[in-house]
Amino acid sequence: MDLRFSAEERAFQKEVRAFLDENLTEELREATRKTTTVFVDKDIALAWQRILHEKGWVGYFWPEEYGGTGWGPAKRFIFEAECARAGAPGLIPLGLKYVGPVIFTFGSAEQKRHFLPRILSGEDYWCQGYSEPGAGSDLAAVQCKAVRDGDEYVVNGTKIWTTHAHFANWIFCLVRTAQGARPQEGISFLLIPMDSPGVTVEPIITLAGDHELNQVFFDDVRVPAANLVGEEGKGWQYAKFLLEFERGGGSASVKLKEELAHVRKLAALQPSDGGRTMMERERIADGLADIEIEIMALEMAELRIMSALSAGKNPGAQASMLKTVATEIEQALSELAIDILGPDALPFVTERPLYGPSSRRPLRHPEGEAVMAQYLNKRAATIYGGTNEIQRDIIAKMVLGLR
Ligand SMILES: Cc1cc2nc3c(=O)[nH]c(=O)nc-3n(C[C@H](O)[C@H](O)[C@H](O)COP(=O)(O)OP(=O)(O)OC[C@H]3O[C@@H](n4cnc5c(N)ncnc54)[C@H](O)[C@@H]3O)c2cc1C
Repeated sequence: MDLRFSAEERAFQKEVRAFLDENLTEELREATRKTTTVFVDKDIALAWQRILHEKGWVGYFWPEEYGGTGWGPAKRFIFEAECARAGAPGLIPLGLKYVGPVIFTFGSAEQKRHFLPRILSGEDYWCQGYSEPGAGSDLAAVQCKAVRDGDEYVVNGTKIWTTHAHFANWIFCLVRTAQGARPQEGISFLLIPMDSPGVTVEPIITLAGDHELNQVFFDDVRVPAANLVGEEGKGWQYAKFLLEFERGGGSASVKLKEELAHVRKLAALQPSDGGRTMMERERIADGLADIEIEIMALEMAELRIMSALSAGKNPGAQASMLKTVATEIEQALSELAIDILGPDALPFVTERPLYGPSSRRPLRHPEGEAVMAQYLNKRAATIYGGTNEIQRDIIAKMVLGLR
């Protein structure tokens, strides 16, 4: 196992840095810094996506034949790491990272021809219809029903916690097309236009006050049978494939390092007692050091996994390890940021978006303005993408071989 980058990879790293210096605007950086939600807003994400699309880098983990870069794991890692280091907005993964790979791996020729270029360009904006009120951790319990009627399916049911459904023009859904002997049987993977008659979207406002989540209702929604991905009843296989992309195999450590640097800056600015800053308080300094060590260990795990992956292979159960560790570090860091700011964290909860021109009262430290909302939002990190308890179950079974 070699964790060092080759000369070619280092040259590529330089090329990415130069591109970011030239193309990543301060406006996009600021919006990213002040985003309080899991994903940046649609307009910010699409502005960045269009810049990358023009360069040909937006499908950076897609094969070349579908308009991707064809990069191997090392280049993908370098690219993600450099983007995070430069403070670029995260690309919305719903199309690019989740449904895109499902379509190019399992979809029909027509689905590939139609959807893939539109995902890369951002013309189509997707949301994910997996969870239901009675099917979250136990995802195979999905009840949203699709009944075949001639050349169409008729869909009835509901999906919940649907991120960005209010922006999306398409939703990929796990639907029940049959009742099998096992709950995993009889699930299908269906692509549904959000403007179909019978689709309604109700907002869910988060603890942090943001509108990011929704509940989506399907009431006799007619969907062309051509929108079925792969085989009817095989949806569970495609769903699991997608979840491995959702959970990891990335470079969360780099983003966490940037966040750690930001929290250190807050600690150095925030007054404490006796003319000291919070940085000089032992508990805070120790907390920051502990988190830095955790991030370094995560980085090593990411590099090890990246080094072991051959191009095109998905990350498997290792993704569960990365997801668990990265999200727990993320939460610990956001808790420390609140400890550092204390009551100064409080007034900044309600106004959105923070990067807009809205007038605000002066802050003691503008650097801290997103801290409370980010802290509240990050409570969800150990829930979405499959809760960390479920990830630990997967690790126990698939990595440690425990039954
Ligand atoms: C911010 C956010 C965004 C999301 N976006 C989307 C989206 O876009 N699309 C989508 O489909 N879903 C989305 N989700 C839903 C998410 O996938 C589910 O919330 C998650 O899978 C947990 O399901 P649940 O909420 O039904 O909790 P439950 O499954 O009811 O779990 C409740 C608690 O019980 C624990 N638990 C359950 N089963 C076990 C077990 N076997 N062993 C140990 N503990 C267990 C869980 O860990 C959890 O603590 C999102 C969620 C959040 C918070």
